[in-house]
Parts: sequence; structure tokens; C-alpha cells
Amino acid sequence: MSTVGRFMATMSNSLSLKHGVSLYSSTSSSFSLSKLHCKPSLVASRPFYNRRCFSISASSSFANDNREYVIVGGGNAAGYAARTFVEHGLADGKLCIVTKEAYAPYERPALTKGYLFPLDKKPARLPGFHTCVGGGGERQTPEWYQEKGIEMIYEDAVTGVDIEKHTLQTQSGKSLKYGSLIVATGCTATRFPEKIGGNLPGVHYVRDVADADSLIESLKKAKKVVIVGGGYIGMEVAAAAVGWNLDTTVIFPEDHLLQRLFTPSLARKYEELYEQNGVKFVKGAMIKNLEAGSDGSVAAVNLENGSTIEADTIIIGIGAKPAVGPFENVGLDTTVGGIEVDGLFRSKVPGIFAIGDVAAFPLKMYDRVARVEHVDHARKSAQHCVSALLSARTHTYDYLPYFYSRVFEYEGSQRKVWWQFFGDNVGEAVEVGNFDPKIATFWIDSGRLKGVLVESGSPEEFQLLPKIAKAQPLVDKAKLQSASSVEEALEIIHQSM
Ligand SMILES: Cc1cc2nc3c(=O)[nH]c(=O)nc-3n(C[C@H](O)[C@H](O)[C@H](O)COP(=O)(O)OP(=O)(O)OC[C@H]3O[C@@H](n4cnc5c(N)ncnc54)[C@H](O)[C@@H]3O)c2cc1C
Repeated sequence: MSTVGRFMATMSNSLSLKHGVSLYSSTSSSFSLSKLHCKPSLVASRPFYNRRCFSISASSSFANDNREYVIVGGGNAAGYAARTFVEHGLADGKLCIVTKEAYAPYERPALTKGYLFPLDKKPARLPGFHTCVGGGGERQTPEWYQEKGIEMIYEDAVTGVDIEKHTLQTQSGKSLKYGSLIVATGCTATRFPEKIGGNLPGVHYVRDVADADSLIESLKKAKKVVIVGGGYIGMEVAAAAVGWNLDTTVIFPEDHLLQRLFTPSLARKYEELYEQNGVKFVKGAMIKNLEAGSDGSVAAVNLENGSTIEADTIIIGIGAKPAVGPFENVGLDTTVGGIEVDGLFRSKVPGIFAIGDVAAFPLKMYDRVARVEHVDHARKSAQHCVSALLSARTHTYDYLPYFYSRVFEYEGSQRKVWWQFFGDNVGEAVEVGNFDPKIATFWIDSGRLKGVLVESGSPEEFQLLPKIAKAQPLVDKAKLQSASSVEEALEIIHQSM
């Protein structure tokens, strides 16, 4: 593909006509991009008009050689976007990725799964899980980016954007130029305030490899682990911590695990499984503060109800916020946060796009604006955005929400857990199966099946789930309730499609 990229450099004129972008590519490292006039007819036909015309003039030096396309952020979405640029033959000499991490994009979900396996149980390590292995693609190591002619700027955060001059500023003082800019900055973990102990040594947040490495150092000497939060991160880290044979307690304010998705009944099954594995739960609890011991490291969690739980390692998994910091002038969504984009991931500022966790996009099938903090959307939004940017493709993103988790997968574990959910968890829930190992929950709204979750499905069953959730068939609730197994329930739904 990289040879195609070189060839495409000679075709920038024809590309510019399609896109309203006229980037006369140069092998020289010093050129600048400035606005020309675009055809008004194109402007009128698009709610968010992002394609711009540029000319190039000699200019002062910028720190990036590849200026036609710049991606800010080096996570899941950036990795899949890079692959799509390569597939279109438009990466080589044209694409620059700037990331604050020291690593090429990787499959972030691994950090609370294989990465935290006990050290004697073959934990995952880079370069094993660089993107795009999770999506069944080639492993894009740092060498891959070099071979494809993609310029990587590591360990430097973008701190500001000048949307008139098409420039970015970085923490280290670099100035970068872009033609089209894709914001893929993901989220940052929500932290406890410093005044209640949120920054004490021994308190961890897991968002990147550096965080996970720091947690592993703590786990090596830990005796008592407390996890704050009963969502994905909490569930995954708790499953890992008991694999290390550590005293593990999970604390959360809700009355059951994964409250935003699981029904109380489904959550109870998982809670029992966790308890059988040695995890203790403290539900309905509010944290007052994290307390330091005599050495200054965290030693205990104090709850609002007056009780105290000892801990030498605490992991906080209480959610994340979109990393919009430098891009606030690009247009933020006030309801779901993040950068507001249309169905082609174009922001309100011409030439600026947003993908992955940070994008607030139209969730077409449910007619609402959403941000989705899941890897499947990171991958698909990246592919959709870049394909639309580089081709004449104009069909809008039509995403079907898909969430999953996999835990207890280390060697020697009594039972592995792998569930998948597709659709919308609205309406009434019908549960089928005994969790031995399968169980399914079906959400039915106005007679139609809107969402489905299956634990321990076969590959064929998992493949059926998105089809069901997309079709939203009318289902006979009483018949579904009487199904004696997950297989039978799925067959009933299949027949009603
Ligand atoms: C521990 C963990 C486990 C997860 N498990 C699952 C799971 O099981 N299933 C699932 O579906 N999803 C899971 N997710 C969510 C999934 O990983 C994210 O939805 C996905 O990574 C989003 O991709 P992204 O590229 O938008 O953001 P990210 O992958 O977070 O990448 C953002 C990148 O931008 C960089 N960055 C941020 N700001 C700047 C800046 N100003 N300048 C330069 N670089 C910047 C960051 O350092 C990072 O490299 C998990 C997330 C975490 C943290």
C-alpha cells in the first residue's frame, strides 16, 4: 500500500477537486497551507462544511513534515484511521500522528484484561497488542508506521489549536501545521480530588500503558486491594486482582454491578461468580476520603457511613471525561460532552474532524446525539471518517451500539466470562438461561426487541446478535419467557425476523 501512497502524491489535484481541498503536495518540508475560495454549491449542500481549499507558500519551519492530514491522539481510533489512510494510498508522506504516549496506537481494552494477568500467567505486553490486531488486522508496530511513511510524534501533548492559521501547539513548544485535522484524543480518567486523597501514592487510575505499569508495580507488593467503581474498569480490575491472590474489595454507590447496563438479576449472577472467586463487595457506599499511612502512601478508605477499609493499593474506576482541552473552540456538545460532529465526523469548523470517544455524533438508529466510549465505535468511526474524507463517500454513520467484556481468562481460572451486548437497553427485560455458563437478557420496548446481551455465546450466536438488534423484530414476550435455554430463545427471535 505504501507504494500506492507515493503514486498518489502525484494525484493531489484530482483529489482536491473531489474534496474542495487543493493541497499541492511537496516533498519539501517547508510549506504552508492557506485558504482559497471553495465552490459555494458544495457549501450549501452540507450542514457542516469542512472541506477547504488551500494553496502552499514557502514559510517558516514547522515541526512536522507530513502536513496534509494530522491526527491528534495515538489511541484506538488513531490506529484504525492510519490503517484506512494506508488502504486509500494516502498515508505515505501525508499523514502525521501526534500523541502524548510513548507508544504507537494499541488496543486499549487489553490494559485491564491480558495486561493485568498475574506475571506467571503470560500477561499481554506490547508489541503484542498494537492496533489493528483486535479488529483482525495487521499489527501496526512503530516500524509499520515508518514503513508506511507516516510521521509519528511521540510523548508530546497538543496544547492549543489555531483554527484560522491551521496550526497546533504542543507542550514541548513545537508548532505543527495541518490541512485536515482529526481529533482522536479519547478520554481521561475521572480522578478523586487531591484533598480527599486522590493523588496519594498507591492510588491508581488506568487509562494507558504507563498507568497499567504503575499499577502492576503496586500489585507486586500489594496485600489489600480496594477498587472504587462497579463499572467495566472495576469489574475487570477486580477479576485480575484475585488472579494475583490479593485480598480484593470492590466499593460502589449503586446497588449492583454495571448499573448502566445490567439488570439487578443479571448483575447478581456476576456478583456471585466474583464472590466465589474471592471478591468482596461493598454496595451503596459513598467514599469520604482516602487516608494516608505513616509512610505517606494510601492506607485506608473511609466511607461516609463511618466505616474504614484498609488498603495498600486502590484503583479508581469511576468514569472518564472526553479529552477536549485544546479543542474547546471547535464546538462542544452541551448534553453529552465531546466535540460535536455530523454523520461524517465533521465538526463545525471546516477541516476539523473528531472520532472515537471524544466525538458527539448522531446515533442515527435511535435518533439522538451520543458519545460512545467503546472500542468498536472507535474503530468504526475512524474508518468511516477517513473513508469519507478521502473518497466521494457521503453516506452517514449508522452505528449499532456494541459493548463487551472478557474477564477471568488467565490460565487456571475456573471459569471464563465473555459477554456481548448489542442495541439499546430500553423497555422491559426478559432473562433466559441459568449462567451455567450461558445466560441472555432481551430488552423489549413496544413489543420490539431493542437490545440483547448474551454471556458465553457460541461464535454463531454472537454473530446473530447484531442482526437481531438491528432488525428490532416484534417478539412474543410470553413465548420468549417460556424458553428453556438461550439457544431456544435465540431461535424464537430468529424465526420472528
Ligand atoms: C482500561 C480500559 C479498558 C477498556 N476496555 C474496554 C472493553 O473491554 N471494551 C470496549 O468496548 N471498550 C473498552 N475500553 C474503551 C476503549 O478502549 C475506548 O473506547 C477506545 O480506546 C477509544 O479510542 P480513542 O482513540 O477514541 O481514545 P484512546 O484509545 O483513549 O486514545 C486517545 C489517545 O489520545 C492521546 N491524547 C489525549 N489528549 C492528547 C493531546 N492533547 N495531545 C496528544 N495526544 C493526546 C492519549 O494519550 C491517547 O493515546 C476500555 C478503556 C480503558 C481505558
